[in-house]
Amino acid sequence: MSARPSLESPEQLVATALGEFLAAPPAGTPAEVIEALTLMAGNPRDPLSPRLFFEAVEQAPSAISITDVRATILYANRAFEVLTGYSRDEVIGNNEGILSNHATPTNVYQHLWRTIQRKQTWTGTLINRTKQGGDYLAELVIAPVLDCHGELKYFLGMHRDVTKVHELEGELRRQKGRMETVLDAAPVVIVLLDAEGRVILDNQEYKTLAGELHGEVPAQVLSTALREQVGLDPLAECLGGRAFKDLEVSISVEGLGATRWFSCSGTPADEVDPSARGFFGRQRPGERRMLLLANEVTARRREVDRAHLENLRARLAEQQLAHGMREALSAAIYQIQAPMNVIQAAAAMARGGNASLATLAGMLEEISVSGAHALETLKAALPEGPREIGVMVNVNDLLRQVLVLETDRLLAAGIVVDWRPTPLLPPLSGHQDSLRSLFKHLIDNAIQALNESGRPQRDLLLATRPLDGAVEVVIQDNGRGIPHGDRYRVFEPFYIGWRNRRGRAGMGLAMAQEIVTAHGGSIEVDPDCQDGCRILLTLNAVATDE
Ligand code: FAD
Repeated sequence: MSARPSLESPEQLVATALGEFLAAPPAGTPAEVIEALTLMAGNPRDPLSPRLFFEAVEQAPSAISITDVRATILYANRAFEVLTGYSRDEVIGNNEGILSNHATPTNVYQHLWRTIQRKQTWTGTLINRTKQGGDYLAELVIAPVLDCHGELKYFLGMHRDVTKVHELEGELRRQKGRMETVLDAAPVVIVLLDAEGRVILDNQEYKTLAGELHGEVPAQVLSTALREQVGLDPLAECLGGRAFKDLEVSISVEGLGATRWFSCSGTPADEVDPSARGFFGRQRPGERRMLLLANEVTARRREVDRAHLENLRARLAEQQLAHGMREALSAAIYQIQAPMNVIQAAAAMARGGNASLATLAGMLEEISVSGAHALETLKAALPEGPREIGVMVNVNDLLRQVLVLETDRLLAAGIVVDWRPTPLLPPLSGHQDSLRSLFKHLIDNAIQALNESGRPQRDLLLATRPLDGAVEVVIQDNGRGIPHGDRYRVFEPFYIGWRNRRGRAGMGLAMAQEIVTAHGGSIEVDPDCQDGCRILLTLNAVATDE
């Protein structure tokens, strides 16, 4: 430890050093430092002033030290002792470097010294160590004090512990980082707007949308869409304290490609008053913000639109089909009427005995021609069968789909379904729509047979199983059954055995057979079924290399 270099008393030293400092504060000295020291200095003409000045510096909350031009400490106040852990006797005569923990980079010291030697004030942060060995961050102001010739005489050092502030700032940065990570990971556009609609905070999805909008501000585009399409001003709504939720809007901006849909929600967000007035909790309301969330629902929206269109198309197709059939049948009825009239006339002539064979032959010829004409009309009216591409089909899936479609009808008829698919079936190439309509027709038949049987216990068995390079499907009901003699006739066109013939054309099983044949399979009514009807059908599987 070096000897005390100054013979002045501490009061004199402080008064002289600070007096000279205040007489010509060096460039760069923070205004509040000058203001604080001026207040401490009081009235220099007052005889009590130097003593009061000294007391004020002694009691000051900042650690204040005065050094010579080589940073040897000449004076240190009480706050300096408290903060550093050194008594003033321990530091006076030592270099300020006693406080260094040797972690501050050398270039910081170099800058410090360059500045103060140029007679300017240096402000910065150093890592210090207390006498007890604890590190702290010192926010330091070093101001040069010049003598009356303008030469460097002292340095005035003021520092305070800003470790807590630094830790809080670090924690704040970490919190911000975590918040940004969460916001950026959210697959939703998130943006916080101030009362003027300016963006305060946004996330990655928002930035991506901004890029896609080519210069348009997403928050403005969405707000305009909400105003125009839903009649709601989102900012006004939130500033008025009202939230809104799941409002769907579309945006179609040049460069965005197709129209995109967003489901928007807004929440008013009140910020706390950050001013000092809010310290004791009695704060004014802070500024109100709007948190806007926009979830892109374009895919779902397209799916809904597509399903709606499909539904419409199917309904239209059904209507068209019914209309076409009515038209064709009316035309056929009209055309069949002509040969019928000729037949009746011929029959009347034959009964009266006044028709020669040649006349009857002529009439028969006329009947034959108009009959053939009516037949042609009917044939032409026959709708073309659906053209479908063969794909690999899963018979279990198709049957299950049809069962789902038929659920309401099965429940209404009180039918208990016994569903026994074999999970692994040989691969089958087929036409899904045709197979679905085949299964639907056979299940519809079973439902009608069960309804007509009037039995209280109604069972429907559906089973699939692999069968020697094919898939066998069994559809069995315990309904009214098919008489043994009709086993083959039921497959003939226009055969109707139902008691309730309404809506039946007798073509269902004929067409079912056609579909099965197209799949290289067969369909039959099982002759061994004693109770009800068992339809056995096989569909040929795709040949494998083995
Ligand atoms: P040093 O080798 O002493 O210095 C490192 C570098 O600083 C040198 O390479 C050189 O470029 C420069 N330097 C040092 N002394 C001088 C000089 N006399 N003239 C020109 N350049 C020089 N340091 C702290 O760590 N904590 C403090 O709280 C602190 N408070 C200070 C308050 C005042 C009023 C003053 C004037 C200085 C203060 N210093 C403080 C700086 C201190 O005096 C030392 O310069 C610093 O601690 C580095 O010391 P060192 O022994 O680690 O390295």
